Amino acid sequence: MEEIKIFSPGTVANVGCGFDVLGFCLDTIGDEMVIRKTTEKGVRISKIEGGFELPLEVTKNVAGVSALALYEAASPNFGFEIEIYKAIKPGSGIGSSAASAAGSVFGMNSLLGNPFDTHQLTYFAMKGEAIASKSEHADNIAPALFGGFTLVKSTHPLEILQIPSPSDLYAVIAHQKIEIKTSEARALLPNEIPLADAIIQWSNLGSLIHALHTNNFALIGSALKDVIVEPHRSQLIPNFQTLKTAAHEANALGTSISGSGPSVFSLCQGKAVAHDVENAQKELLKSTGIPFDIYVSKINTQGIKILTQ
Ligand code: ADP
Repeated sequence: MEEIKIFSPGTVANVGCGFDVLGFCLDTIGDEMVIRKTTEKGVRISKIEGGFELPLEVTKNVAGVSALALYEAASPNFGFEIEIYKAIKPGSGIGSSAASAAGSVFGMNSLLGNPFDTHQLTYFAMKGEAIASKSEHADNIAPALFGGFTLVKSTHPLEILQIPSPSDLYAVIAHQKIEIKTSEARALLPNEIPLADAIIQWSNLGSLIHALHTNNFALIGSALKDVIVEPHRSQLIPNFQTLKTAAHEANALGTSISGSGPSVFSLCQGKAVAHDVENAQKELLKSTGIPFDIYVSKINTQGIKILTQ
């Protein structure tokens, strides 16, 4: 195989009560990438399309940095060329950088005959993600590579748990096209949290994991609450409370911030409810004048998909 074309999906990190550990994979929004073997050794990014300003320089692009980490470990006697067709806006809160970092290593691994397992690919991709977020974390990378819901039990050593989810679970993503600096979103977080809040949070996280295992939609809804991060970060997201209310009135199970925002996600039982939530949030956002995108997606249990090879 000389060339592979893949779909590298968007992802939702944090998922309300699972700050920095939980994430899930989307189906209908993602980038496409072409990875090709070259006779010339090394890694090169030859094309980036999509209208966003992203560096072609390998050491400045997350796709390039993760690719270099894998390349060094594999040490093949040929090189790789990467093309990125970006659909996920950088900084939207749905794992734009993770899609690129995970996509390049997935594609290269396939062209090499899959010498590395998904945990090793996660490790390489985290090297790329680190240049976008200044720290190695896997809460977007893991769901992109493993699919479905993932829990990062530990980063060093890397331990990822795959969490099952009901087949009829859908997500609605409302992305208002405004910029929130990750540093600003981080700075808002408290250094210490009251024990009473911590107890509520780990009760909810444990309940959410149990609910996903047992297809308990009512429990997904009641557990999808974040008393630690959301009260602070939601201040940076215009219309957050009204988006949440609109989703609730349209029977969403729950709504919270995707990653560090500005995207807001809702989980829903079934496609029909997801479209009701989409329509309610669309109506609301139309009246605000802020440009936006809304996506409805089934949970993508596969992760990155091979389009052609
Ligand atoms: P998101 O909030 O959607 O997860 P991130 O904040 O993780 O997005 O990543 C966006 C940052 O990563 C931007 O500063 C962007 O310039 C940088 N970056 C570097 N390479 C890429 C890439 N291939 N795709 C997306 N962002 C990239």
